[in-house]
Amino acid sequence: MVNYMEFYFSQDEDIQKHEKQKARELRNSQWWKRRRSQGICHYCGGGFPPKELTMDHLVPIARGGRSVKNNVVPCCKDCNTKKRHMLPIEWDEYMNTLDPDHN
Ligand SMILES: [Zn+2]
Repeated sequence: MVNYMEFYFSQDEDIQKHEKQKARELRNSQWWKRRRSQGICHYCGGGFPPKELTMDHLVPIARGGRSVKNNVVPCCKDCNTKKRHMLPIEWDEYMNTLDPDHN
């Protein structure tokens, strides 16, 4: 657990700043506005008012994820909160419970 956190925080801070800046730009783009206006949370598949959907990185910036279209998805507040507080393995398990093909 401790080692794992150290690994994440040892990433190059400049790269992370750069990706966060790119995320802000992406959030202001027409592409994102259209994507969000569909009103669907990528994770739970629920329908939400677009303003309640936040931009989430599939692979977090802290884990080397990039602010590119195929790494960002609309995410509802519930999923966002869960994702922030869960370990990646717990999140994966949560995703499995939401996956209709998974028994
Ligand atoms: Zn959700």
